[in-house]
Amino acid sequence: MKVTKPRGTRDFPPKEMHERNHAKEMIESLFIRYNYHEILSPTMEHSQLFRVKSGEEIGEHMYVFQDKGGREMCLRPEATASVCRMFVDSLRDLKKPVKVYYSCPMFRYERPQKGRYREFWQMGVELLGSGGWEADSEVIYLACKSMEALSLEFTLEIGHIGVLRNLMTDMDLDDRIQDKVIYYLDTEEEDKLVDVVGDETILELVKLKGSDGILEKAGSILEGYVRAQKTIGELSDVVGLLDAQGVKYTINLGMGRGLEYYTGVVFEMRVKGLGAENQVCGGGRYDELVELFGGPPTPAVGFAFGFDRVLDAMKEQGVVFPERKVDVLVAPVSREVWADAFKVASRLRENFVTDIDLLNRKLGKILDYGNGLGARFVVIVGSEELSRGEVTLKDMSSGDQSRVEIKELVRELSERLG
Ligand code: AMP
Repeated sequence: MKVTKPRGTRDFPPKEMHERNHAKEMIESLFIRYNYHEILSPTMEHSQLFRVKSGEEIGEHMYVFQDKGGREMCLRPEATASVCRMFVDSLRDLKKPVKVYYSCPMFRYERPQKGRYREFWQMGVELLGSGGWEADSEVIYLACKSMEALSLEFTLEIGHIGVLRNLMTDMDLDDRIQDKVIYYLDTEEEDKLVDVVGDETILELVKLKGSDGILEKAGSILEGYVRAQKTIGELSDVVGLLDAQGVKYTINLGMGRGLEYYTGVVFEMRVKGLGAENQVCGGGRYDELVELFGGPPTPAVGFAFGFDRVLDAMKEQGVVFPERKVDVLVAPVSREVWADAFKVASRLRENFVTDIDLLNRKLGKILDYGNGLGARFVVIVGSEELSRGEVTLKDMSSGDQSRVEIKELVRELSERLG
């Protein structure tokens, strides 16, 4: 019987896992240096958690099922709602701001294609308990630094859902219409906006995109809309701090993120070489979600990298991954020496990546195997050498070999491996 893997999922062979782990460690070490702490929420949640505010698109694509107790459950489609639930359950008493990161699989029932999977990984941060532009700037800056740490070329677009929402509130448009407008912006169906709002000011605002003078133009379009104009000021503070750090970006006031919980600054990052699915990061401010889940008013901001796309981009852009190396291969020449060979290997494994022949092969075959592994050294364990407390150390690149006392082996290898 042949059973295939589910559509939109992937197996990751060792080489790929090595590359993924390398990228993950690079990003993670940066998150840690910015003092974010790792958390993990359940893979499975009550589907209600995401139905409330994650938006129409996420709702349509959720993996939903009924458990044996009749509850409607789902596989987590994104992490922000889970983090807010967790904040209310167990993080609310921590010192503010609470800075956390996660790295875990998400599930969306989408049409699989390159860069779009049904099981995919996100790495992201959430900063809860600060409503300031300093927090927005830190989070956006950290996203940029993560891309730089991986040597990825990217572009950054920054928008502000609050400008649009406040304008619509100033115009007395209700939440349902507001959500629809943002949905059409996210799905890039701007032509449908005319039917929903039919107002020139909104249409003018969402077309504003570029690097220079955009905020000034927005300011004049929004003349008379007090709340919306104030939010332009907030956005200007955020980008001011980014300017001071030398961050390059485009402002896009028509950016609507698929997730409905955003209330303020939103941003997206794209990379070259990935075709249509080139958005590697999305994030923004969501000041009402914690309260919606029963917590105290807690402003928050965060982002998520689409980790699979980050990996694809690294390959497309020719980023070189470090190779996984085997330092030493231990070659027992006969059954009789196996116990001693195993002891030698076990001692070497305290310091070096060490393999040992497990197929009882002849020495010539073990050396071939060592070459295939890219082993730097082979330690040949034979009974004659053992009787003198020695082994033979073979340097696989030069072919030179010499006798070494077993008690000196670690020191000798440390010196030669550098
Ligand atoms: P979102 O949670 O929708 O804001 O997505 C954040 C990031 O996750 C996006 O920028 C993508 O890089 C990535 N992403 C979203 N959906 C998928 C998917 N189906 N497959 C792979 N990556 C995805």
